[in-house]
Formats: sequence, structure tokens, C-alpha cells
Amino acid sequence: MPEQIPNPTHTPAVPASARRVIDALEDAGFETWMVGGCVRDALLGRPVNDIDLACAARWQDTQRVCEAAGMRTFETGVAHGTLTVEADGTTFEVTTFRTDGAYTDARHPDAVRFVADVREDLARRDFTMNAIAFHPDRGLLDPFGGRNDIEAGTIRAVGDPSLRFREDALRILRGVRFASQLGFAIEPATEAGMLDARNLLRKVSAERVAHELDAMLLGDHIHDAIMGYPGVLEAVVPELGPMRGLDQLTKYHIYDVLEHSAWACQLIPATPLLRWTALLHDVGKPSTFFTDDNGIGHFYGHAEAGVDIAAGALKRLKKSPRFIHDVRLLVRYHDTPVPAQPKYVKHMLRMFDGRIDLVRALCDVKRADSAAHAPRYQSGIRLANDIDACLDEIVAKDEAFTLNQLALNGTDIMALGVTAGPSVGRILRAALAAVIDGKVANVHDDVVAYVRDRLI
Ligand code: ATP
Ligand code: MG
Repeated sequence: MPEQIPNPTHTPAVPASARRVIDALEDAGFETWMVGGCVRDALLGRPVNDIDLACAARWQDTQRVCEAAGMRTFETGVAHGTLTVEADGTTFEVTTFRTDGAYTDARHPDAVRFVADVREDLARRDFTMNAIAFHPDRGLLDPFGGRNDIEAGTIRAVGDPSLRFREDALRILRGVRFASQLGFAIEPATEAGMLDARNLLRKVSAERVAHELDAMLLGDHIHDAIMGYPGVLEAVVPELGPMRGLDQLTKYHIYDVLEHSAWACQLIPATPLLRWTALLHDVGKPSTFFTDDNGIGHFYGHAEAGVDIAAGALKRLKKSPRFIHDVRLLVRYHDTPVPAQPKYVKHMLRMFDGRIDLVRALCDVKRADSAAHAPRYQSGIRLANDIDACLDEIVAKDEAFTLNQLALNGTDIMALGVTAGPSVGRILRAALAAVIDGKVANVHDDVVAYVRDRLI
């Protein structure tokens, strides 16, 4: 449910640049409307990003009319009827009224048919809230009751849900993504259509799926979206399936593994790295779960077990190697106690390739994980705060935690008589560990003496 009932008196603000494009086209005899996300977001009172226009003109006519009125145009998607028009420094996508069939990329259908009636164009759109047109003088054109659905916080398919989701299965994920972004509920027949067609998501490209999942995970209502529509999510991240309903049987938890993870997502800052890690941090729990003689649940080794499972899911979704590398480290260490003392935090930094951002991320993961525990067992929040404070201190004092910061280098080691090769690196790493442990100060002569006396 939306936190705030949107103000139904909101109508889209029309910037002068948009008005210029609309007027130029209409003066030339081509009916033109603002459509899609910009109308929806304006009715919701949310900031409007891009203004999309739909019009009766073919792109060649749009180009002729707009250029004659002194605007620049770009042939960005003319095969699908889309021309980009620049007016007073702002660009607009102007698309000929059309109907379309199946989509195989994120934005364009495979085959389109241009039509004369804007209502036909609205009918091809996915949800009623996205199928409203607005004109500064004629007002709203809302043939599917999108405005009522926006006021009620409802996501409803335009037309027969099963057919619409079978036409383009990505719409299933778009629906849950909007639920997460807007806090709306998916209307029951629409949800049933999603579940009915969800297996077709296997045919949608990994990039399109990942794009929607990223947007979904960043939404303000991610807990409700995950718990409301787990069957949809499991169609694209089947690794979540065994987490659903897995009662942890321990006093530390009041939620099953999936809901614990959904709360961790909700409570962690909204970046792709943190939200994906929160979703997958306990993905190793189902395979490591056992109950002891007292019926208490345990998950020894779940962090290690989760690393490959999480990486497998992300690889399938074609996430970048660096992203996967970072998630692997965060999943692996999410549960490892790190005493909030400079020495231990610097060792953690050393293991995280010297990356302060990644240890900060680990603190975020630990905080959210802990906050999603039973209320009496959230001491991890304070511990993570203490690690963060310790990081501040290390940075402020410019203390060494990488080989680059060490007051001696490979040449110094070789000057002590060690021949070039793997032992140079081994000695350097041991010297860094000694500096971090406070056994020697990070001062050139001191480290040289330490290495000469103890390591060679
Ligand atoms: P966002 O805020 O993410 O941009 P949006 O609704 O504007 O949301 P876009 O992908 O920019 O989404 O699409 C613009 C409009 O095109 C949508 O509002 C909707 O009317 C229509 N649309 C987009 N994708 C689809 C689709 N897969 N099936 C049907 N209609 C679609
Ligand atoms: Mg948009």
C-alpha cells in the first residue's frame, strides 16, 4: 500500500520546451500527447524524469515539422517510430502511435504497426497506470482507469493479464519492480497472470532481467515486493526458493530465511552491491541447516557455502566480474566477527584488497543483517558502528594496511640479499602483518631491521 495517497489534483506540469514540440506538431495537424511514465509520476506527485510524447505523425513528418520550427532531431529508434527531438536544450522521445507484438530487447518490440488512434497506442502498454495520456489543453485521456488505480495504489495489467505477460514476459518483472518502487499492490488477476506466465521469463535475456531486478532491489518497498511476490522472483533467482519458509529454529531469528533477507534488503542503503548482497547473504543457509538434539537450528559454514551459490546467480544474470568478486567477499565475511580494534580492522582491509569502500560495505551488511534479527539480538549494529569508527581512525592517522603503504619495498628486500622471486612478496606480506600487529613501527629503518633479524 502506498504510504501516502497521491493527490488526485496533480496534473503533469508541462515545461515550455515540451509545449513547443507539442504545439509545432499539432499546428501541423498531428495529434500529440504526453504518455507513459511522465504522466504516471506527475499524477503520483513524484519527480518526472523524461517526457515521452506519442503522436499521429510518422517520424519523417515529425522530423520535417520540428526542424522547420528550429529544433534538432536524432534518428534514435526510427524503425520503431521513435525520433528524438531537442527543444531548448531538452530532449524528448517522440513516437508514432503504434501497436506492437513481442519484445526481445528492453525497449523495442520486434514488429510494430503504426496506427491513427492514440487509444490503440495506450492499449499496447503494460499497466493501466502507464497507459494514460495527457495534453496541456485537452487534459487526461485515461481509457483503462489508470488514475483510479494510481489513487488506490494498484498495479493492473491492461487487457487480459495472461496474454499480455505471454506477449512479453519482462512485464512480469516490471510489475514487481513498480510494486517495489511505488509501494503499490498487484491486483489479484494481474498477479495470477504473472504466475501463469512466469516460466517464459527463462526466454528473456539476462541483461533485461538483471536491469529490472536492479531497479526492483533499489526500490523503497523492497521487503514488501519480495514477500508479496516470491513466486515471481524465484522464476529468475531460483536460489531463493529453498530460503522461503525455512524456519531458522533459533532464538536469534523471528523470520524465515527469505523474510530475514528481505528485511536486510529493506534496511541496507540502496546501492546495487549492498542490496544484492543483502538478498543473497544467507543463500548458503538451506544447504547447511541442521537441528541439534534440542531441536535448535544451526547453519555452520553457511557463509562459505553461500559464496558460490550467490556468484552462480549473479553470473547467470551477467553481472560484471568485479561486482561478483565484491559480493563474494561480502557474503563470505558477513558473519565473521571483527573486533573493533585497529589491528583487526586493518587485517580485514588487507584481505579486502586494501579497499576501504568494501570494508565500509561490510559494515553496512553487518548492520542490516543484525537489524533483521530478533529484537533482543541486534548487538551487531553497535559492533558494525564501532568498526566504522575504527576505519575513520585508521584513515585519519594514515595507518598502513596495504603493501603500497609499507615503509619498505621489494628493492629494499633484495638489497638485503634476497633473490628476486616469490620470497620477496612473502617477506613483504609478513612485514606488513608485523606492522599491522604493532610489532614494528612503519618506519623504513625499523622495518628493515625487523626483516633482517626475523624474516630472512
Ligand atoms: P521508468 O520510470 O522506469 O522510466 P516507465 O514507465 O517510463 O518507467 P519506460 O521503460 O521508460 O518505463 O517505458 C515508457 C512507457 O512505455 C511505459 O510507461 C509503458 O507505457 C510503455 N512500456 C515500456 N515497456 C513496456 C513493455 N515491456 N510492455 C508494454 N509497455 C511498455
Ligand atoms: Mg521512462
